[in-house]
Amino acid sequence: MLQMKKLILLFFVLIFANFFACAQQKQTDNLIIVTLDGLRWHELFTGADSVLINDPKYSSDTQRVKDKYWAPTAIERRQKLFPFFWDVVNSLGQIHGNRDLGSKVNVMNNYRYSYPGYNEMFTGFPNDTTGKANSVEYPNKNSSVLEFINNLPDYKSKVAVFTSWNAFHAIFSEKRSGIFVNAGYDSLRFKSPAFELLNDMQWHVRNAGMPSNERSDMFTYYMAKEYIREFKPKVLHIGLVETDNFAHEGNYESTLNSANMADAWLADLWKMLQSMPEYKDRTTMLLLTDHGRGDKIKSEWKDHGININGADEIWFAAIGPGVRPLGEIKQPEQLYQAQLAQTIAALLGLTFTAEHPIEAPIKGL
Ligand SMILES: [Zn+2]
Repeated sequence: MLQMKKLILLFFVLIFANFFACAQQKQTDNLIIVTLDGLRWHELFTGADSVLINDPKYSSDTQRVKDKYWAPTAIERRQKLFPFFWDVVNSLGQIHGNRDLGSKVNVMNNYRYSYPGYNEMFTGFPNDTTGKANSVEYPNKNSSVLEFINNLPDYKSKVAVFTSWNAFHAIFSEKRSGIFVNAGYDSLRFKSPAFELLNDMQWHVRNAGMPSNERSDMFTYYMAKEYIREFKPKVLHIGLVETDNFAHEGNYESTLNSANMADAWLADLWKMLQSMPEYKDRTTMLLLTDHGRGDKIKSEWKDHGININGADEIWFAAIGPGVRPLGEIKQPEQLYQAQLAQTIAALLGLTFTAEHPIEAPIKGL
């Protein structure tokens, strides 16, 4: 009898030991994080908006944009706009944030604009009032999970960032963190025909009149893709901005086009990763956004910020090792952007520590 009790005890000890080991277990070898700035959950889950797509104020040629993105049901519309999300991520990964089904993801910071959003996402610490600065001149005092990872011997020089917006030099405190950040119109110094061509092209585009603080997402994506091919980073952030820029301009057609283009790049990226032995079945992709936008007052779809109702409502998606194939989450839940930093660490089997508090990771991805 005593023997039996000992066996039962041993059984539970083993169960718990296994549970805790799993909590720290490495789920994936590589992590690619793609951010789509200010992309609303409304478009991701319900496709083109029936009011905005029919308003000539927001779509100069309403017929052209309807031909491309309109369908009678939300399921068909989102499929047209985001085929990679709804074909591939929905069957192999997870998509959170459909508030119509009760799946809620919110930012915790009060500002609801980009710098505080990226700070929250990558540091897990949303309550720093210095996050008010949306500025390229403002190096983040909070250390990020990417800085933490970059300081580990296994990941030294294996963490990189390619973004369209030049503020990421500051968001990731490039000088302190030592992370390789190519943001805005930064020259590429790598000597290969592809890099040299991309570099030449981006400067010509900029000189043709693009804003100086943000380059076209096209360059950011293809430079990042080339960097993966050439340097095989283990952790990479690709930051796209056009979904936010065109929305601020009130150009709904271009907003949809940029979202659709980003979806096509994600499909292209996933396909490339699955064709490379260093990445195939060893790479997790996290698809994230920094803030939401308005909707309750329809004209506020263009804006975000502290006074815009709904600009704290976001979404996220994930695909790859460490992510169960649950598809679109249809159960009520409440998740926060600040949980993503520790989730990034957990996927790599790490526990992120910093000089500031960090929100707990998302459980049960
Ligand atoms: Zn914005």
